[in-house]
Amino acid sequence: MRKMTVAFWVWLMPAFLPTFIDANDDGSIEPTAEPTERSATEYKGGTSALSQGDLPLFSLHFVLMTDNTKAVAGATETRLKELENLLNEKFASTTGEHLARFKIRSFATLDVIKNSGCSEIYESIVNRTNTRYGNYWKCKDPNVRAPQGITIFIKHHDTDKLSYGGQMKGLPFAQINWERFLKDQRVFLHELGHAFGVGHSCPPKKGSGGRPNVMNFSKGCKELPAGEAGWLFTPSQAEKIKKRRDTYAKKFAKTKDPVWDKVLADSLLTR
Ligand SMILES: [Zn+2]
Repeated sequence: MRKMTVAFWVWLMPAFLPTFIDANDDGSIEPTAEPTERSATEYKGGTSALSQGDLPLFSLHFVLMTDNTKAVAGATETRLKELENLLNEKFASTTGEHLARFKIRSFATLDVIKNSGCSEIYESIVNRTNTRYGNYWKCKDPNVRAPQGITIFIKHHDTDKLSYGGQMKGLPFAQINWERFLKDQRVFLHELGHAFGVGHSCPPKKGSGGRPNVMNFSKGCKELPAGEAGWLFTPSQAEKIKKRRDTYAKKFAKTKDPVWDKVLADSLLTR
């Protein structure tokens, strides 16, 4: 089990044992920019996974879990598309191997949630109660809860500024602090890294000349294997991701999801 705030999970999922959860916190409050210094051979982004038809394709389902007016106003189609592009470009290894393809499936806005069969989630959001995630995972409405793929929550930060990544009942998810949702890139790569099974790597020591890695976080960290360095996923991290990726892909291929099937049909893609 990875590091987690016990109190957080107690209010989040009283109905499920913590053993179902693999979550990680990211304690950095301020967005961390990508390093500009890279080794000459390191992949820096610039190509998209979308042209690689043999890579597993994952749906992205966004869910607004706050009624903060700035968060609501900022979660635009343009921003969601930027994030789809970001993952297609940079959910990749330091050697430039793309690890998956991503496509937006749906966005559960406050209106969608309010007018769904799971309006209790909406009530929890506007009334600031702590039942919204518990209710979410029980929701059967496919417009609110995707039965497969990756779920990305835009979360409030009234009492907890952290972002999280993990899996719930076999579904990878990330909860992103709305302020970072609107402007950060690193947090998405970091939390999805967790959702795909990667833990924290230790930040380079000051003056060591070591280079930062997207999974850097000192609490509970492990040193990267000797010789591995770089901003995106190093070879050992990429291997972990591919293993978890293939488990997810196999499971999701068997999961009924008419919403996703329609998105794929409309864009002439197949699962
Ligand atoms: Zn983390």
